[in-house]
Parts: sequence; C-alpha cells; structure tokens
Amino acid sequence: ALSSDMRCEEKEVPTEVQKEVGAVGPVHIVLAHEDDQGFSLDEEALERLLLREEVVDLDVVVVSVAGAFRKGKSFLLDFLLRYMYNQSSSSWMGDAEEPLTGFTWRGGCERETTGIQAWGQLFLVDRPDGSKVAVMLMDTQGAFDSQSTVRDCATLFALSTMVSSIQVYNLSQNVQEDDLQHLQLFTEYGRLAMEQTNEKPFQRLMFLVRDWSYPYEHPYGLEGGHSFLEKRLQVTQQQHEELQTVRRHIHSCFSSISCFLLPHPGLRVATNPAFDGQILTSLSFPLDIDEDFKRELFCLVPTLLAPENLVVKEIGGAKLTCRDLLHYFKAYMKIYQG
Ligand code: GDP
Ligand code: MG
Repeated sequence: ALSSDMRCEEKEVPTEVQKEVGAVGPVHIVLAHEDDQGFSLDEEALERLLLREEVVDLDVVVVSVAGAFRKGKSFLLDFLLRYMYNQSSSSWMGDAEEPLTGFTWRGGCERETTGIQAWGQLFLVDRPDGSKVAVMLMDTQGAFDSQSTVRDCATLFALSTMVSSIQVYNLSQNVQEDDLQHLQLFTEYGRLAMEQTNEKPFQRLMFLVRDWSYPYEHPYGLEGGHSFLEKRLQVTQQQHEELQTVRRHIHSCFSSISCFLLPHPGLRVATNPAFDGQILTSLSFPLDIDEDFKRELFCLVPTLLAPENLVVKEIGGAKLTCRDLLHYFKAYMKIYQG
C-alpha cells in the first residue's frame, strides 16, 4: 500500500534546477470549487499555453494522467518530464553520478486539489515523418470519496479524457470493479458531450496498474497488461447484468484501449520523504528505485512519448492544432456548466 502519512514540506529547489526549469511549473487550468459548485476553466492560463506563437498552429498531442490522490501520478509525470527535457539522450532517466537532470512535478502542497493541471510549457517534437507537433502534459486529479465528489470527478475525468489524445488511468494494484464503474460514469458524461457536438471525442485509454504483484500470472509491461485486461474486461453470462453493461460500454467508447502493469517501485520510494512530491535529488535517485520498476518505466515512458508514438489529438477524424484545442476546451466546459 502507499505510505499513508503524506506531509507537505517546502523544500529548497537547487539553483541548477531553477536555472534549467526557469519559471516553468505546473499550472492549474481547471479548478474544482470547494463547496461542490462545479469547475471553472482558467481561460487565461490555457491561452497563455496554447496561443504562444511557436505552438498555436501546430498539431497538438495531449498526454493526460488521471486518477485519485497519492497513487504516484506526480512521480510518473516527473519521469515523463525527464524524458521530454532529455529527448535526444538514451540516458533520459538520469543516473546517480550525473547532476540532476530532471525535477518533480511540483504539485507540492496543492496535491489535494481536485482539478486539471498542465505543465507550463508545451514541448516541440519533430516526428519521423517530418512533421512538428506540440506536446502537452496534463495531470487530472480527483477524489471518489462521497456521492457528490463521484459526480464531480466523473465530469472532470470526462473533460480531461475528451481533450486528450491518450488518457492514462492511473490505478493502484488492480483494476477493480469500482474503477470500471467510475470509468463508465465518466464516459457517460462524454457521450453527453458527443450528442451535442455530434462527434466522437474519445481516443486512447491506457490502464496503468501500479504495484502489480502477480507478474507470474501476467508479466509486467504492455503484453502482460493486454492479457490481464482481456480477462478483466471479458463479458460472461455469469456476470451481473450491470457488470456486463460496464464492460460493453467501455469498449464502445475508445478507439483503442491498452494496459500496462508496473511493479512496485520499492519501499524506499513508497516511504522516503525525499520522494514526497518534491524535488528528487541526484543522491537518492535513481539508486533508491527498484531495478524492475526502472526497467519497466524505461519501456513505458517512450511508449507514451517517443516521437514515433505520439498521437495527435483528433476530433471527428480531424487533427487539432493548439488553437482548435483551446476552442474545444471552452466548448466542453460550457456543456458541463450549462
Ligand atoms: P499523486 O498524488 O497521485 O500525484 O501521488 P505522488 O506522485 O505524489 O505519490 C504519492 C506517494 O507515493 C509518494 O510518497 C511517492 O513516492 C509514492 N509513490 C510513487 N509512485 C509509487 C508507486 O508506483 N507505488 C507506490 N507504492 N508508491 C508510489
Ligand atoms: Mg500529484
């Protein structure tokens, strides 16, 4: 299980990291209101990201990681950033002797905030076919702990799923019946939006199972994930009607569904305060991470972000530019507010 007592301490950001990162950090683009009053879009923040001259007319790729609190989303996003900032290097993960090359997704004290954050910079990537795309990384965080938050989260997840090329559904240990039901609920909201825009907005979904502990049944990685998910999403006559519906529905909503099984990163990650959503230091990283985990991560991250694997966001078969994405973001937001 995840370490339960997560404190929030301000830590000094080393100067070499400050220089490298500059003022870039995660920005909240969708904020949930405390008192169950829905969501609001920070249009200005989104415009600052998407309307920048160097990206505005480029096709956009949106990679989103979504899930509940404290399941390692930030930890993963940190590696996605490392990869994006060290594209050309095969040692993108960094090693113990190297000075710090990566930095964490500095959610810091805001980790309890429900909403959508984006990395404050889009990445320009040249793809093998000669095209240039802009890549946006998003973090969607929700809580499913009461009836009202379940509904709100479904809305939030629907929104982030609709605007992303790939939604990584970050889950702990297994794909539970609950997780499928939440997914069902948020794809339901997605359908609502589809009816009003007459378009099919869902693209790819990846179940990312953390702390997978049955590698002998289904091995780590994509292939094990595939066989595991096939079994998990199988519709059988013995299942309760409702469970059958959930399974059929999920298949009909996405153009592709995959699953990746990640091992536990090791107790030093799960319990070390140095990994507690703050800057990773070159000393503790990556020595403190289990080899199995690193090996699988080394495969997972390029699966999502290698230039040849990037998927441009499409709606109704048409590729979106950053400018188009801004438009859809606003339109979807209106649907949920209206
Ligand atoms: P978030 O709230 O989903 O963004 O989660 P964080 O990335 O902030 O991680 C919460 C805690 O779980 C931190 O102490 C991490 O070091 C730890 N952690 C990160 N990844 C994993 C994982 O794959 N398994 C376990 N058990 N713990 C993890
Ligand atoms: Mg986080």
